[in-house]
Amino acid sequence: MNLEGKVAVVTGGAMGNGKGIVEVLTKYQAEVIILDKAKELMDTVSDLTSKGFKVTGYQVDISNKESIIAAFDEIRKKYSKIDILVNNAGICKLESFDTMSDELRDLHFNINIKGTWDVTKIFLPMLRASKKASIINLSSVTGELVADPGEVAYATTKAALIGFTKALAREEVENGIRVNAILPGYIETPMVKGMAKESNASNPDSVIKGIADAIPMHRLGTITELGELAAFLASDLSSYITGSSIVIDGGSTLPETVSMGV
Ligand code: NAD
Repeated sequence: MNLEGKVAVVTGGAMGNGKGIVEVLTKYQAEVIILDKAKELMDTVSDLTSKGFKVTGYQVDISNKESIIAAFDEIRKKYSKIDILVNNAGICKLESFDTMSDELRDLHFNINIKGTWDVTKIFLPMLRASKKASIINLSSVTGELVADPGEVAYATTKAALIGFTKALAREEVENGIRVNAILPGYIETPMVKGMAKESNASNPDSVIKGIADAIPMHRLGTITELGELAAFLASDLSSYITGSSIVIDGGSTLPETVSMGV
């Protein structure tokens, strides 16, 4: 795979899945711009630049439209086009539907749906300028295929991104833009470690072990495995794939029962 000459924007690239995506895109020679609100952003940027990769970072909260526009205005002074947009930034806070506040619901909607929408819309002219761009949306198996208790807000937003992916793919095909979604199962990231703590504060490791035990591959995925799938969808190797949702879950959504079988 070769992404030389391609410029990528990755939201939420400071940590977790986004960091894995940035590392793999740069490994294949893409130039990467990270938009993230975390203080870890500059550590990730300096770590990768010290290894010789072309990475820059902008402090952006994707739920704040002005902050996206401010970064966009800087980026368009330096680049004439963007070839790859990975809408990865997202949050998941576990809370039952009956006790969830409107504020927590809106936090999920504002980052996971509206943030993804706004970043895509603001960068669309630069993606069209590529003539051969790829947008990759981080959805989830949660919402489209499965759900655990406490995930109503999260599942709602991640399922929404499937509709967003398909409808945008249909419209932007005329402009040479492909749009696809990745549906990960459990990948070992700070988000999953945080969810394990929310589930069992005194023994979060038992939650991670329980997840691994229930997955046919008996382990969580790595951010590098996820990054490789994103790089494939970003590359010309996937030139005939658009509007698709691709599951990467170690088989976690395969079992139909826990008792049937030989
Ligand atoms: P994470 O919490 O470990 O990392 C998320 C990154 O996004 C962080 O760097 C964070 O600072 C950034 N971010 C969060 N809100 C932001 C905002 N408003 N503006 C800018 N940056 C923001 O999460 P993760 O597990 O790496 O998840 C990344 C994406 O993958 C999410 O969209 C998530 O829904 C999706 N996903 C993760 C898993 C998993 O098992 N880890 C499974 C399915 C889907």
